[in-house]
Amino acid sequence: MSDTNITLDGADAVSTAAGLMPIPGHIDPLTVPRPSLVEGVTPREDGRIDLLGLPKKRIAELFETAGLDAKAAKLRAKQVYHWLYHRGVIGFDAMTDIAKTMRPWLAQRYVVGRPEIVEAQHSSDGTRKWLLRTADAHDFEMVFIPDADRGTLCVSSQVGCTLNCRFCHTGTMRLVRNLTVGEIVGQVMLARDALGEWPKTAEDSRRLAAAADLDEDDDDANGGDYTPDGRLLTNIVMMGMGEPLYNFDNVRDALKLVMDGDGLALSKRRITLSTSGVIPQMARCGEEIGVNLAVSLHAVTKDVRDEIVPVNKKYGIEDLLQACADYPGASNARRITFEYVMLKDKNDSDADARELVRLLRKYDLPAKVNLIPFNPWPGAPYECSSPERIRTFSNIIFEGGISAPVRTPRGRDIDAACGQLKTAAEKKSRAEIDRLLAEKEAALG
Ligand code: SAH
Ligand code: SF4
Repeated sequence: MSDTNITLDGADAVSTAAGLMPIPGHIDPLTVPRPSLVEGVTPREDGRIDLLGLPKKRIAELFETAGLDAKAAKLRAKQVYHWLYHRGVIGFDAMTDIAKTMRPWLAQRYVVGRPEIVEAQHSSDGTRKWLLRTADAHDFEMVFIPDADRGTLCVSSQVGCTLNCRFCHTGTMRLVRNLTVGEIVGQVMLARDALGEWPKTAEDSRRLAAAADLDEDDDDANGGDYTPDGRLLTNIVMMGMGEPLYNFDNVRDALKLVMDGDGLALSKRRITLSTSGVIPQMARCGEEIGVNLAVSLHAVTKDVRDEIVPVNKKYGIEDLLQACADYPGASNARRITFEYVMLKDKNDSDADARELVRLLRKYDLPAKVNLIPFNPWPGAPYECSSPERIRTFSNIIFEGGISAPVRTPRGRDIDAACGQLKTAAEKKSRAEIDRLLAEKEAALG
């Protein structure tokens, strides 16, 4: 595995990438859409419409509006959909089962886009990070983490975040905007482009579908030792920038394209959505998307969780655990993951570990706990617990009968920790400055 940056070397690349990132706090969150000829779809400046992110039915409607009769529109939409999402094709010329005369008609009116890649970085441990840009020039990130038995893509759902978890760098940014369906599914498609993993033949495609089906019986929701079809990208986690349940519709529609057998054909058992605990949307997530759930718990007392995950003031721990117990589809074969970031002297005592076991037992949760060593960032108000403390904490939970592996930090040399998709901007964001000022004031009494 190369440990060089794709375009630049080491630390230079990190700071250069960071330099390109905007300070979201200074951007007007209200973007003005360009006029639309077809409801819900915004044409690009050249007047063509980007099909990326649209479902089959919507594509058929567009074709009909552009002049095809209903039957032809439906057939062409089926063909284009397959090339677009299943085969990863960008140019209409390559859509070989579409009549040659039809292809220029499509190319005049439509494009198949991808988020723009601003920077691609490669860590010495194989982790890859991409800095991506939306058409209206907002930057966000995506990370790929290869392991022996799986490859996990960490996907963003928003640029910035409305929630202000104090240990999270994304939490220091304001929300710029939700990512669109195309920008979310586009991340997975970009990763397949980069990894060269689109099915090229009918046989590839059959194997892909079979792997997705087989997976339905796979007991270990997060992969076990089974790698479908030897592919690199096997799992998706919605753990990038943003709170996916605050962008529910777009996340759902994007994941539907990812899970569709004629789309990207990735099994829902290999997709995990991580939430900080937006209770009102959790049941919908299970019912309408059906993916695995991860919950960023991070603390077991009201005081500490209020401080580090402030959404706790609105949706408290006990209600959150009840919502987890009610999560549709949760079972011992599909356990809920509780993420717990290890913060020195904040949430890492033996008593905290014992309380965590008690709470998970109280709600009879099919649970596993992921202990995440805190990944520090400049100006962060916390430190990571010591390795010994993390080990002891993990052992207490194991002794309580709950699996509690410690997540190995990955891609530290490129600041690629999932959920810490940071800008490392030289200037501090507005939220961070406000917070630091408040802290100083408090310290001064
Ligand atoms: N908003 C969602 C998903 C994105 S964050 C959520 O909060 O669950 C993904 C995970 O990374 C969360 O568990 C988050 O708490 C964690 N995380 C964020 N910043 C981190 C940091 N600096 N070190 C370690 N984990 C962090
Ligand atoms: Fe937002 Fe998740 Fe970061 Fe909290 S941890 S600020 S919810 S991205």
